[in-house]
Amino acid sequence: MARRIDHYLSRLTHEDKFDFYSVVRDFSDAEIGSQILKWERDKVLVPDEAIAKMGELGLFGIPIDEAFGGQGGDMTDLVLMGLALGYHSQSVAITPGAAISLGAKPIQLCGTDAQKAEHLPDLAAGKRMIVFGLSEPGRGSDAANPEVTAVRDGDDWIIQGEKCWSTNAKWASHVVVHALTDPNGANGKRSTCFIVPMDAEGVFYQEMSGKRVWLQSSTGSIMFDQVRVPGSAVLGEVNDGFKVMVTTLNGGRLFIASLALASLAFALDKTRRYAEERIQFGDKPIGRFQRVQDVIIDMDIALERNLTWLLDLCQRHDAGTLDRESAAKVKVDSSRVASDLVLLAMEVCGGVACLDEFGLIRHHDDLFVTRVGEGSNFALKDLIVRPLRENV
Ligand SMILES: Cc1cc2nc3c(=O)[nH]c(=O)nc-3n(C[C@H](O)[C@H](O)[C@H](O)COP(=O)(O)OP(=O)(O)OC[C@H]3O[C@@H](n4cnc5c(N)ncnc54)[C@H](O)[C@@H]3O)c2cc1C
Repeated sequence: MARRIDHYLSRLTHEDKFDFYSVVRDFSDAEIGSQILKWERDKVLVPDEAIAKMGELGLFGIPIDEAFGGQGGDMTDLVLMGLALGYHSQSVAITPGAAISLGAKPIQLCGTDAQKAEHLPDLAAGKRMIVFGLSEPGRGSDAANPEVTAVRDGDDWIIQGEKCWSTNAKWASHVVVHALTDPNGANGKRSTCFIVPMDAEGVFYQEMSGKRVWLQSSTGSIMFDQVRVPGSAVLGEVNDGFKVMVTTLNGGRLFIASLALASLAFALDKTRRYAEERIQFGDKPIGRFQRVQDVIIDMDIALERNLTWLLDLCQRHDAGTLDRESAAKVKVDSSRVASDLVLLAMEVCGGVACLDEFGLIRHHDDLFVTRVGEGSNFALKDLIVRPLRENV
């Protein structure tokens, strides 16, 4: 059965982009779709072999300049990767996704020449990953005011505190730490970002336990106990760390939207196929019921609408005209619509939707992360409402 998402992407993207998507889709079918159930049942994170294969395909270097060994691609390519990998597993897709959009991007956008030369080639090759250390046990949505501190000591800085929910922590060589450096500064001007090696003295990582979503993704908690870093570890400007984080998050939110739409695309194909195969009340399929058709139609409309919207925003991102509200809106809407519809899709399929091998429950559970990750939808509405309250 032809995938509905392929139908739309072949019309919405240029031929070379669709060719790229097709290569990643075929890789995803062969390497992820065929194994994801086993990885889930074995309770393993993305295996090293799969990470190495994604690295060989160049997936960790998509938007990194060719001068640093990357593919020189753009936001559309990154989102196409999210759609292709996320169709089988958001938690596999977020591995290169976060490594790029939260790990490499801050270095690419805000790093010095020396920082870029030191990190980007290995990041592009998938030989190292950098964690985005924004969230803390006591600071989630209120991320502008971290409890983690960095205090000057001569030319060095001493970092103290804890970060959590750090995606890719298991594989990370470094973490970008967002730390309070000027408690009396203006709002948004109190913090600085530091590139800290995970093997620095005083850095302790442990995998967070009990997580029931994004099962194959590493999510760590990282402690900093009087960690000393040199002045050259500062990423961007001193006391402008929140700007580094915010600059990074625009692209990250587009990527999260791609994961939500990947799950919706999977659920649409699974449901429309099942609706034609499942026979009840005589010899006709459940797809003849209008209430079943309504769910499938709504999924199809949402997929086409939000893919069109997302791909347009990717072009605005690359043109430098993407505003924060637009990136937030497509993330909020795609995650909400996809998770609402996937729940209905499960209802259409009935009891079988509860089985892991059917696949829908994985997407249902993972879609919750797209609602809270990279800014919870509720909190992002504070941003979205701003222009609506001006000039009225
Ligand atoms: C699997 C996973 C991976 C993650 N990866 C990373 C990562 O790599 N790096 C990183 O730094 N973080 C990461 N996060 C953290 C994520 O960004 C936070 O969960 C998110 O920012 C929300 O913060 P919180 O969970 O502390 O919720 P809180 O800030 O405590 O908010 C709880 C709820 O309160 C409500 N709320 C909060 N503020 C407002 C507001 N202003 N208006 C209205 N309602 C509001 C919302 O309903 C919100 O969901 C990850 C999270 C998960 C679950």
